This record gives sequence, structure tokens and C-alpha cells, in this order.
Amino acid sequence: MESPAPFELFAIRYAHHAHRKQSENFINGDLHEDGSPLDYFVWVARRGQQVFLIDTGFGPEAAAARGRQHFRLPADGLRLLGIDPEKIADVILTHLHYDHAGTLESFPAARFHLQDRESAFATGRCMCEQAFRQPFNVEDIVAMVRHLYAGRICFHDGVAELAPGLSVHHVGGHTAGLQVVRVWTRRGWVVIASDATNLYANIGQGSPFPIVYNVADMIEGYRIVRELADSEDHIVPGHDPLVMSRYPAPSAGLKDIVVRLDVAPHYN
Ligand SMILES: [Zn+2]
Repeated sequence: MESPAPFELFAIRYAHHAHRKQSENFINGDLHEDGSPLDYFVWVARRGQQVFLIDTGFGPEAAAARGRQHFRLPADGLRLLGIDPEKIADVILTHLHYDHAGTLESFPAARFHLQDRESAFATGRCMCEQAFRQPFNVEDIVAMVRHLYAGRICFHDGVAELAPGLSVHHVGGHTAGLQVVRVWTRRGWVVIASDATNLYANIGQGSPFPIVYNVADMIEGYRIVRELADSEDHIVPGHDPLVMSRYPAPSAGLKDIVVRLDVAPHYN
């Protein structure tokens, strides 16, 4: 079969969390030892006029409420790449945590791709528990429900091909309905793992991130992600600052803001 034309693939960094303990990044992580900081990203797959935005990040209010350093609105990051956020037709939400599913109002022309299990999780009985609802922002969920009633949510259950060379895959684990995105690029199949692995070390060491709905599914998710990606180098974690140093900026002006994921990573 002829392979589809490749997508360009980018990560846009929009926020940062500097001070974390090991125990905030790994189950059984040390309570006192400093852990890796987190970067916050949205991702873009582009093929000519066809654009898929993966996640919508959060805005300055959520950053202030949770003590995160906010660099820019994700929509403004897209503008730096020459993409008009108001014209984007397809937004994939990997899951509905506050750092992935805020700022929906920036994308008035979009339909939102979501797993059945994620909307059920975010509006169901687990949200009676503080531990499960803490990473959600209720206003994002209300916005999602309004978009549902406006006919703008496209539901998936498991695997779905959204275009030749781009598919979503339910993984669960971190949340009940987490999905990853597999993208065909000029270097092969890359997987935007999002929070299927927050850091390289979560999947690399088989050591789960502690914000988790189901640990067994999270660990099974590492296997699924590996199976979907052409190699370990083709897996892009959700929050690892190493992404910014392993991949090149598309231009000098976008240094520290955007990196290309469709070229091989380099290790210094
Ligand atoms: Zn996240």
C-alpha cells in the first residue's frame, strides 16, 4: 500500500512548573528529593492546509490558580507557526485534565475529538472524589458539555483513523479515557503519548506517574505506545522538558517556544 504524505509535527511549549519533588513525578518517588520540572505543551500535525491540533492547554487564570509559569496562550503559539487558531477544524483532546483541555474558546471552528470513556469519567461518579477531580477544571468540563450540545464533539471508542496517516488510540491509565495520537511523518510513525507517559523516565523505567486512574492500564499503555511507535525515539512524552533540548526549533525566532518532532532527536 502506498504510504500517505507525511505530516509536519510540532510541540509548542506554553507553560512550566519548576519546583517538583520526585514523589510528584513517580509512584514511590522520594518525598524530599527534587524531581524533574514539567513543561506544558500542545502539539500540531500539519499537512498543507490540513491541521490537527492535539490538546488546547490552559490560560493565565488556571496558571495563577495552580502556581504554574505561563508563557503564552496556546492559540498565540499557533499564530507563531502561521496557523490561525480560529480556522482550525479538528482538535484532538487526549484527555480532559485542566492542562490539556482549557482555552476551548480559542477554537470557534473546531470539532473536538474525544474518547467516550473520558467524557463519562469527567462527568461521572469518580468526580465525587477530590483525588480524581483535582486535575480537572470544572469550567473546562462545562465548556465541553456546551460544545457537546452544540454538536461539536466527535466521539471515539478505542481506535479511529481521522485522516490517512493520523489515528487516535485509547490507552486509559492516567485517566479513564486517555488517548494517544499516532502520526505519520517523514521519519516514520511518531506517537504523541501525552500523559500516557509524562516524562521519558515514566515509560523508560516502567515507573508510573502518580496522578493515575488505573495503574495496570497505565503500565499496559507503555506497551501500546511502544507498539505504535517506530522506536523509543518516536515516543513523545506529555511534559518532559528534555523534549525542548532533544528536538530543534523550526526557526531561530522560535527557539525555546516550538520544536519539530518530525526529525530525529539528538542527545548532547
Ligand atoms: Zn498533563
